[in-house]
Amino acid sequence: MSGTRVAIVGGGVIGLTIAAELARAGTSVTVLADRTAEESVSAVAAALWFPYRSGHPSLVTWLERSLHRFTELAADPDTGVDLRSGLVVERRPDADRSWTAAVPGHREATPEELPPGALAGVRATVPVLTVPAYLPWLLARCERAGVRFLTRTVGSIDELAADPALAPDVVVVAAGLRAGTLLGDDSVFPIRGQVVRVANPGITEWITDDQDPAGVTYVVPRRHDVVCGGVAEVGSWDEGIDPDTERAVLARTAALVPALAGQPVLGRAAGLRPGRPSIRLEQVEGHAVPVVACYGHGGSGVTLSWGCAEAVAGLVADL
Ligand SMILES: Cc1cc2nc3c(=O)[nH]c(=O)nc-3n(C[C@H](O)[C@H](O)[C@H](O)COP(=O)(O)OP(=O)(O)OC[C@H]3O[C@@H](n4cnc5c(N)ncnc54)[C@H](O)[C@@H]3O)c2cc1C
Repeated sequence: MSGTRVAIVGGGVIGLTIAAELARAGTSVTVLADRTAEESVSAVAAALWFPYRSGHPSLVTWLERSLHRFTELAADPDTGVDLRSGLVVERRPDADRSWTAAVPGHREATPEELPPGALAGVRATVPVLTVPAYLPWLLARCERAGVRFLTRTVGSIDELAADPALAPDVVVVAAGLRAGTLLGDDSVFPIRGQVVRVANPGITEWITDDQDPAGVTYVVPRRHDVVCGGVAEVGSWDEGIDPDTERAVLARTAALVPALAGQPVLGRAAGLRPGRPSIRLEQVEGHAVPVVACYGHGGSGVTLSWGCAEAVAGLVADL
């Protein structure tokens, strides 16, 4: 791929990881984005390695590859990646455990480890990213590898193809929720999320309870705080903070992890996950240049980022 010019639309975790992967292989990469990673939904992510509200026949392969890459990164504290153990709570007998195929060492939770009302659970050790450290690290890795960044709203693929300053051999669309507009795909939809960050009372384990009848509930301890969530409002375009939602999240998370009760609130955020019935990762025909799509990761964009970036690099190499 040495010498190939690739323009990537999107500077969130998906676009940046693809940029890092392609640049590593010698590609000349330009990222075009109108929001930086810190301004995008990627900065709102909890960011626990766990598949949520996303699907694709290759999901387990991408989970496996991402887990492998994040595990390597966890050896370097500067990346902001840590391996932490925790619990996935199950309240229904039909809970989907396909993800466990990607996680060595996972085990059945004992009844004593489960919260009241839970039927079962899985304990596992997986990556947790301190996003305010990870995204700058990823950006710096791209910059060191020679990736060029342009702040621009892209109106169409053909506009990029015709730009003599870019002259791309390939365009990668990693534009999250707005990728559908660029590719005439109306199956992309928002899944609104909201989180609140509190001071860490000393917890190190994550817990996710997305079948809680009162609402999706998760607690993700990072290096300097704890992310408490959340909601998953399909079809809502509201990026504002709802105080009632925040109160309900704080109540549910304190019920799940009593040590969180009364902890000072350090920050809050809301964002729109890029939902799609299935992740789109494929070559797209019908444009002036070859196009590769990579979007629709729902609540798993961080989790799947390295696996999907490897798959995109494979497609670009085969063009
Ligand atoms: C509350 C919450 C918690 C979450 N927790 C987790 C978690 O624990 N684990 C996990 O894996 N995931 C989690 N997610 C999901 C994760 O945040 C997303 O899946 C991921 O950030 C999607 O990344 P992306 O790069 O595709 O999109 P985005 O981060 O939205 O980036 C899109 C980029 O495309 C650019 N763009 C779009 N259209 C154009 C255009 N026309 N021209 C120029 N630029 C354009 C934008 O400027 C931006 O740079 C969570 C999300 C939320 C909201």
